[in-house]
Amino acid sequence: MRLLRFEQDGRPGIAMQVDDGWRACKVDEAWFAPDIGALAALSGEGRARVFEELHTGAPVDIGAVSYLPPCGQPGKIICLGLNYRDHAQEFDFKPPSYPTLFARFASSLIGHEQPLIRPRISTDFDYEGELAVILGRGGRHIPEAQALSHVFGYSVFNDGSIRDYQLRTPQWTIGKNFDGTGAFGPFVVTADEVPPGATGLTLETRLNGEVMQHASTDDMIFGVAQTIALISEAITLSAGDVIVMGTPSGVGYARKPPVYMKPGDVCEVEIGRIGLLRNVVREES
Ligand code: MG
Repeated sequence: MRLLRFEQDGRPGIAMQVDDGWRACKVDEAWFAPDIGALAALSGEGRARVFEELHTGAPVDIGAVSYLPPCGQPGKIICLGLNYRDHAQEFDFKPPSYPTLFARFASSLIGHEQPLIRPRISTDFDYEGELAVILGRGGRHIPEAQALSHVFGYSVFNDGSIRDYQLRTPQWTIGKNFDGTGAFGPFVVTADEVPPGATGLTLETRLNGEVMQHASTDDMIFGVAQTIALISEAITLSAGDVIVMGTPSGVGYARKPPVYMKPGDVCEVEIGRIGLLRNVVREES
């Protein structure tokens, strides 16, 4: 299944791709919250009922809607840093032996085709194309061998980073949480549509059409199953939580001279079989 979350005439909804296009339920038509995180958290029976409703829902022209982040208010957004060897090296870090984890907050999220916001107080606005994992089932001490059964689906993420703020202190949180810097979407593809753990997919980031990052999800140091297992040793994960899996090499900060995103730039992140996330950069008003 391929799903998206949108807004039209001020009403949020969820749409699903069917043979002849897209079908949708809007908030006042649906008995479920129009959020893919909430859908992911339903039981198997509940999800099947939603998919059935969507199948017979009203046709929707997805070229005429505003895209929303697929999950608007995840309970947790846990991000991995330095999860590709060549990216760790370009940042002069050793590849980690334990995932470098940091938190993002929902206030930083934007959807496909919404503007990435370069803040007033910095020009060091960098892109990071990444795979996002949406959990359908939570738990604590989830064994690695069972971890992929906890995944609802996958999406595309641009972990937009304000580098000078990220690197002011050893804690990256502030540089990873400016408003309007976490682009997410447009689609969530259910886990059955891609190889286990979303391996073997090509990830590419383009800035104004120029390829800046190009890698395979096979190059991740910590794969999806191992990451879920390791995080859940410490934290109870919940359905609807989002894990953002880290970026490969080619970020703007590591280039000589650095290449940062400016107002008017177009940044695209594409992951094969999942989707293309596109955002234009705008200055904070
Ligand atoms: Mg990142």
